[in-house]
Amino acid sequence: MTFKVAVIGCTHAGTAAVKNIAAQYPDAKITVYERNDNISFLSCGIALHVGGVIGDAQGLFYSSPEELARLGVVTRMRHEVLEVDVQAKTLRARNLESGEEFGDTYDKLVVTTGSWPVIPRMEGIGLENIQLCKNYGHAREIIARAADAKRITVIGAGYIGIELVEAFRDLGKDVTLIDNMDRVMAKYLDPEFTALADNELRERGVQLALGRTVEGFRGTDGKVREVVTTDGTFETDMVVLCIGFRPGTDLLKGQVDMLPGGAILVDDYMRTSHPDVLAAGDSCAVRYNPTGEAAYIPLATNAVRMGTLVGLNLLKPAVRYQGTQGTSAIKLFDWNIASTGLTEAAAAGMNVEAVVIHENNRPEFMPTYDDVMLKLVFEAEGGRLVGAQVMSKADMTPAVNTLSVCIQNRMTVQELAFVDFFFQPHYNKPWNLLNTAGLAAMQRLNETEKAVTEPERMEPGAERADARTPDKYGVA
Ligand SMILES: Cc1cc2nc3c(=O)[nH]c(=O)nc-3n(C[C@H](O)[C@H](O)[C@H](O)COP(=O)(O)OP(=O)(O)OC[C@H]3O[C@@H](n4cnc5c(N)ncnc54)[C@H](O)[C@@H]3O)c2cc1C
Repeated sequence: MTFKVAVIGCTHAGTAAVKNIAAQYPDAKITVYERNDNISFLSCGIALHVGGVIGDAQGLFYSSPEELARLGVVTRMRHEVLEVDVQAKTLRARNLESGEEFGDTYDKLVVTTGSWPVIPRMEGIGLENIQLCKNYGHAREIIARAADAKRITVIGAGYIGIELVEAFRDLGKDVTLIDNMDRVMAKYLDPEFTALADNELRERGVQLALGRTVEGFRGTDGKVREVVTTDGTFETDMVVLCIGFRPGTDLLKGQVDMLPGGAILVDDYMRTSHPDVLAAGDSCAVRYNPTGEAAYIPLATNAVRMGTLVGLNLLKPAVRYQGTQGTSAIKLFDWNIASTGLTEAAAAGMNVEAVVIHENNRPEFMPTYDDVMLKLVFEAEGGRLVGAQVMSKADMTPAVNTLSVCIQNRMTVQELAFVDFFFQPHYNKPWNLLNTAGLAAMQRLNETEKAVTEPERMEPGAERADARTPDKYGVA
């Protein structure tokens, strides 16, 4: 069956959509519009490239217009789509090299326009050496400008800011990290974890300037020299803005349903409110399983899944989207950190309980073992898991992927406590870490229940006991 598909944007969601559409519908006439000069760039490699861990940036691309051409796809590079009319099924595009503008028509439109960094409107924002960090061009700019910068300021202590801070320290730069929250990575981790991360950053020589808001920049000779905050001014030679992302969806404004911030709402089959427009990736809201609500969580993991689903569901609903927990991980110097779902802080408005357990990753009879800190957040009524965090010098991040599956499948801590996991002394203890955490959470629920059903037996002002630290074999 011949029909025309127009795809706007070709990084992760776009590339996944295009390849799957081409595979499902070999006769479809697919045209990709991409305003950049490359496709499929893995931004997750920027900090590694900046820090010199990845020497050749070519490994950060996994597709190309040539590969898409072999699939029969026409890729219009350096072409920006200027307008879309979803009723008329037309678009208007500009060739950014020649300036030529032209129109096109489609039967199905795929919107994979992604996101763009938030750029605050403030004094001095236009000064030289204030950099964004999103695409390959930005990566090259950061590397070039950092070469001559002794003092570098990163604004925003989320995962991207933290990764850059580590890269700049590895290069021997004087690094200042500014954030308006009073701890780093506050969106992903609770204070037990961020306290360790804050310490590590300070010990590694990073100047942490937390709990203050950037008000503007001052410069000399057109170049940034100072960052002005609500609590002090910081001298600098270069700034990288890492304060978040906004969906790039102005083209569709007023034509399909969106969240107030502009994230396109799609159903479980990636269909927007217009039947012939599908969307995926950072341009969209996602179903956030811990709350069941639509949320804006821009991640490459969501983008590739959603893009693939666009291909599978293009003409008729076939494969359902399962939502997300916003599962993510970061390596901070020697620490391995991962989180999924809600932190206790983010779940403040819900009736939740939480436990933190400390456990060694292997039996103490083994020559080496490491401490692991794991936190579960779960509903106080019924024990449904809604979030988890892990941090250790050992790589325990896969445990968070397992917990992500549990949250997605609405499992309770009671079920987690008795899931069948293997035991092998090289890798874990007879009671797997996750079983142990589930047991500790059950104990917490029992205590809470007792406190509610037998209030007369509680001493006034008595505090609940914290989760018992498991014994040396991890049996709580
Ligand atoms: C530094 C950094 C590190 C990251 N690390 C991770 C990580 O470790 N793990 C993870 O899961 N996620 C990570 N992410 C997030 C991840 O990169 C994004 O979620 C992902 O890029 C989203 O893919 P996308 O295709 O939806 O959108 P985008 O990557 O934003 O791509 C959108 C594309 O659309 C094009 N476009 C937009 N508008 C138009 C138009 N009008 N006409 C033509 N073309 C247009 C753009 O040029 C772009 O190529 C990181 C992001 C950054 C910036």
